[in-house]
This record gives sequence, C-alpha cells and structure tokens, in this order.
Amino acid sequence: MLSSDWVKNGQVPCVRRKEPTQILDASGNQIPTSGLHYTTTVNMYIGHHMNKMRFEVADMPAGKVDSYLPMSWLKDHNPDINWENTSLKWRSEYCKAHCLRKERRLEFITEDELLAEDPDNIFVMGMALYTDHDSADIKIKCLPEYRDYADIFNQEKINALPEHRK
Ligand SMILES: [Zn+2]
Repeated sequence: MLSSDWVKNGQVPCVRRKEPTQILDASGNQIPTSGLHYTTTVNMYIGHHMNKMRFEVADMPAGKVDSYLPMSWLKDHNPDINWENTSLKWRSEYCKAHCLRKERRLEFITEDELLAEDPDNIFVMGMALYTDHDSADIKIKCLPEYRDYADIFNQEKINALPEHRK
C-alpha cells in the first residue's frame, strides 16, 4: 500500500479500476479510499535490495506513513529487522536469487575509505601492509579462502591499475 500523496508527488504511474475492489486491513476492515487505484509494476529499492512491486494506493495520514508492506512480502524476503537502528539485512535464499546484485566490484581502498563504507556491502579479501615508504617490505594478510589470489596485492600489478575513482 502506498499513500496517494506519495504517489502524486513521485508521479508514480497508476491504473484506475473500473470497479473498486476490497482491500482489507489486518482487522478485516476495508481501508478507506483504497481499492480504486494501483501502481504499475515499479522497482522498489531498499539500499542494494531491489524487487518489482505493484502497490495499492490509498490516503494515509499526511507526513506520517508513506507505505505499508504486506505480510506476504515479509514472508518472501524474510529480512533480519533491527528495530533499534531501523535497518534491514538480507540473508534469505529468495533475496540472493532474486533481489541482490550478483556482480561484485573489486577495489583497492585505503583503511580510512574502508572505515567509511557500509559494512554490509563490503567484503574484505585481504590487506596489504606497507612497512616502509617505498613499499618494498610488503606484508600481505589474506583470508584463507583467498590465498590463491594473493598476487593481486603485488605492487607492480597495483601500479598498473587505473586511479581509484570516487
Ligand atoms: Zn528480497
């Protein structure tokens, strides 16, 4: 369910039914102003999670609620909900198969850049530690599953890479 204000402000494409249908709340009561309009299929993004949805449209208290997600959505996507900091994590096989990007980007970043990233979207393969100014004495710490790829930390290969882009 999306609020009619949000739909108007976001210019979300809608379809108007010829005959209104019944949209019921959890108590089984018809939701006022619902049942007449629904959105076309739209891409709903929550961070890096994306799924296609059609929403019913109804008036909702202005500025208080923009949207409700149905129980069936929670059941399908089954996110870990952290109520304390109002965040979601995606671990279900359904989301891995349908909603999360499959490509991974490999970037060399500094420790400061690493600390500024969202921890849920970062996978550390390893770290290269430079112990002198000309990087001659390099120490590589790779997670065991990535040891076969340790040569990507080779300074000559790093120098051959294009500049890190912001
Ligand atoms: Zn999902």
